[in-house]
Amino acid sequence: PWGIALEGVTVRYPNGTVGLNNVSLDIPPGSMVAIVGLSGSGKSTLIRTINGLVPVSSGVLRVGGATVSAARPGALRALRGEIGMVFQGFNLAGRASVLQNVLVGRLAHTPLWRTLLGAYRPADREIAYEALDSVGILHKLYARASDLSGGQQQRVAIARALAQQPKIVLADEPVASLDPPTAHGVMRDLRRINTERDLTVLVNLHLLDLAREYGVRMIGMRAGEVVYDGPAATATDRD
Ligand code: ADP
Ligand code: ADP
Repeated sequence: PWGIALEGVTVRYPNGTVGLNNVSLDIPPGSMVAIVGLSGSGKSTLIRTINGLVPVSSGVLRVGGATVSAARPGALRALRGEIGMVFQGFNLAGRASVLQNVLVGRLAHTPLWRTLLGAYRPADREIAYEALDSVGILHKLYARASDLSGGQQQRVAIARALAQQPKIVLADEPVASLDPPTAHGVMRDLRRINTERDLTVLVNLHLLDLAREYGVRMIGMRAGEVVYDGPAATATDRD
């Protein structure tokens, strides 16, 4: 897995809004980190900056061996290939099958005719099956994504991220639109992926309760700044 380091990172959007204000963090490879804060506190900016989607205005950001804050566009594209993303809204192709959705990240090196015929490479199929199995949804292989429940769709999205064989998984409010039991199931999956695959996992949450339960490091954010950094288990709302 890859580590992440920020040294005095500030992100200023073109309209002048400060998304991150002088943030320094050291996230060792294999960490599981919950980023907690109210809406507008900078959680999503942090994730999008690490993914190279939002430019660093000042400071240094290192992801894996690369200095993202000084990287060229080509290097940022390569970086994004190594990072699995999971979103609040799942971002699946609703009409496509679960298998097609999971393989979409691997199609860049698949000839078009194979894609059209569904004649995926055996190695790609193996990777997809393994990823779907690890989130308990292999039995839905040929279901249409839009026919699945929210929790099932989010697991497909996690499997899609895993099928990319990433070095880091970034999840931006992955459970915000799920009911509490389903949200817990998805959090357990993310935690298991972190431990079993030794993958660095960052997950944005707006609920402190959810962060507390999974024995992870918590980074609390407010107004673009880190206001808490330590075990989630002992964090309180005042932190
Ligand atoms: P969170 O994910 O915690 O809700 P965000 O990172 O989305 O917080 O937002 C942090 C701050 O940056 C907020 O003030 C928000 O309005 C602002 N912001 C986010 N995205 C943009 C953007 N594309 N352009 C300008 N301001 C933005
Ligand atoms: P695990 O080994 O269980 O995957 P970590 O190695 O990420 O977890 O962290 C173990 C504990 O130490 C967590 O509870 C976390 O809160 C805390 N922790 C780890 N690194 C830091 C750090 N740099 N700053 C604050 N707390 C940390």
